[in-house]
Amino acid sequence: MTESVRSVAMDVDLSALCHNLAVVRELSQDREVIASIKANAYGFGAVGVSRALVDAGVRKLWTGNIDEAIALRDAGIDAEILLFGGIEPQQVADVLRHDFQPTIFDEVGLDMLAAAGVAAGRRVPVWVKIDAGLGRFGVALGGAADFVEQVARRDGIDLRGVYSHLPFGSADGADWARERSAHFNAVIDELGARGVAIPMTQLWGSSGVLAGLADASSAVCVGHALFGLSPLEAGVGVHSELRPLIRSLSAPILQVGGSGIEGGGYGAGGNGLAATLGIGLADGIAKAKHGQAEVIIGGRRVPVRGFTLEYLMVDASDAASAEPFDAALIIGTAGDASVTLDDWAAWTGVSPLEVMMALSDRMPVRYVDG
Ligand SMILES: *Cc1c(COP(=O)(O)O)cnc(C)c1O
Repeated sequence: MTESVRSVAMDVDLSALCHNLAVVRELSQDREVIASIKANAYGFGAVGVSRALVDAGVRKLWTGNIDEAIALRDAGIDAEILLFGGIEPQQVADVLRHDFQPTIFDEVGLDMLAAAGVAAGRRVPVWVKIDAGLGRFGVALGGAADFVEQVARRDGIDLRGVYSHLPFGSADGADWARERSAHFNAVIDELGARGVAIPMTQLWGSSGVLAGLADASSAVCVGHALFGLSPLEAGVGVHSELRPLIRSLSAPILQVGGSGIEGGGYGAGGNGLAATLGIGLADGIAKAKHGQAEVIIGGRRVPVRGFTLEYLMVDASDAASAEPFDAALIIGTAGDASVTLDDWAAWTGVSPLEVMMALSDRMPVRYVDG
């Protein structure tokens, strides 16, 4: 996000991030916790979040986007950076330059990186992804042991680990993941029997960790849980202990009064006191589809009557002391009034993470601690 002289901002609570990291560490026992910081750290800002995680002792960061990975290096973050997805040929030079650890899952990727490693007189650190059933990136289970063995013995390549991904949300999903995990573990066992050394294995993300599934691997790779977002439906696993990261999302009141409510066609009815806020659809706020969205002004929840590209129109009748340039809380707590990310997800009919994706990089993020 470029510099802003508007007062729209999101305050992100790093103490909540550290709390959630501690919850994940506790649940994953002596396994290494790798942080998934893909998608701009789930919208909370890849650089700021990564700095805090590294300060808290996280040594490995994973992202799917090499541009984001380069931005972390440019910001001086020297943790290990692993890349989830496939590498395109023109990215190989950056992989070597920034010492990234890409994922490979087929001979195309293996040949490309091995050739680059040999040419540079180095061994490129790589991870092999196995598709244990999700149907996304990965070498198929059937050929996985042979492929990993080939990678482990290949010149120019340094095999750092083998992983897979089995995300789920429901109790049925947990059964599916448990069943699929046995196939992943069988490949690892087979490699052990063949004498192939694998420095690290990783299977569970937030779902598996929060659901407390048995884990034969030496690491977990967690995103959702660190950001206070549980992928699990209510009743599956533990999530109440996670803390939300957004302390507040605030925007200025730009006008109080005017004819916005009576004459603006936003359907408020009555003689409500209108206020216009300097935040809108262009900032990633979505129009409420389900029920009535509310924001907080002067410690009271007040209804949003209109969503436009750059402004929200609210009925401030219950916040009669509102004045221009006061801050309205789009998300946050003031006194007894509170509006959460989950509220916006419910009002707009998407998941909390999708609300974050819409807001991501649209406004300054300020990190607060404690
Ligand atoms: C995103 C991702 C993770 C982290 O998943 P969460 O559910 O956010 O914890 C782990 N592994 C892979 C391959 C991923 O793409």
